[in-house]
Amino acid sequence: MIVSGGPMELSGNNLFSNVDFVFLDRDGVINRKARESEYVWQWSDFHPLPDVEAAILSFNRSGRRVIVVTNQRGVARGLYTLDQVDSLHDRLQKHLTRFGAHIDAFYVCTHDYLQCSCRKPKTGLLEQAFRDFPKATKRNSIVIGDSVSDIQLALAFGIRSILIRDDARILSPDDESTLSMATAVSSSLKQAVDTYFITPANPVGTRRGLISIEAARQR
Ligand SMILES: [Mg+2]
Ligand SMILES: [Zn+2]
Repeated sequence: MIVSGGPMELSGNNLFSNVDFVFLDRDGVINRKARESEYVWQWSDFHPLPDVEAAILSFNRSGRRVIVVTNQRGVARGLYTLDQVDSLHDRLQKHLTRFGAHIDAFYVCTHDYLQCSCRKPKTGLLEQAFRDFPKATKRNSIVIGDSVSDIQLALAFGIRSILIRDDARILSPDDESTLSMATAVSSSLKQAVDTYFITPANPVGTRRGLISIEAARQR
């Protein structure tokens, strides 16, 4: 399938209407990113970005799977444990429950640079998720992330991507060139949902949409 093309070429509300599996980066997409070389592993440092709960709920209600794929190199560095990451994700789930939203699965790379096949932009986390969710295909999946490595991941795996970019970071020409290969760009997850996933033909969040997609799934 054709993946790239750039945001200008591929605009329009139906661009992602066939997406069933949404692979979300965590830091910088769901919660505020920590400062450089700092990590988020405690709930007190976990600051959900504005309207992220509503965005996830929209995906939930449209019958899409929401799956987090996150690099947590801090575990390899001994700064926190995988158990602590799991606890944080439990806490996030509890938080989302208050909004009626949920994340379907979390995949975490706990390794250091060049130590594994799952640290993004390597594709191991997606491969694992595809084994666990046999209905996921490269055509019905998307990566949403804020980093060069998220866009590289999507390109390496051959799936579409949305870059979340809300600032004017100065990046190298190489990085800018990689980011320009994202299928689309949004300033936030909520903005991405509003721009690309709610259409009259695809009424995310409406009862009709929910029922028709659920019914389709049961066939
Ligand atoms: Mg990120
Ligand atoms: Zn890994």
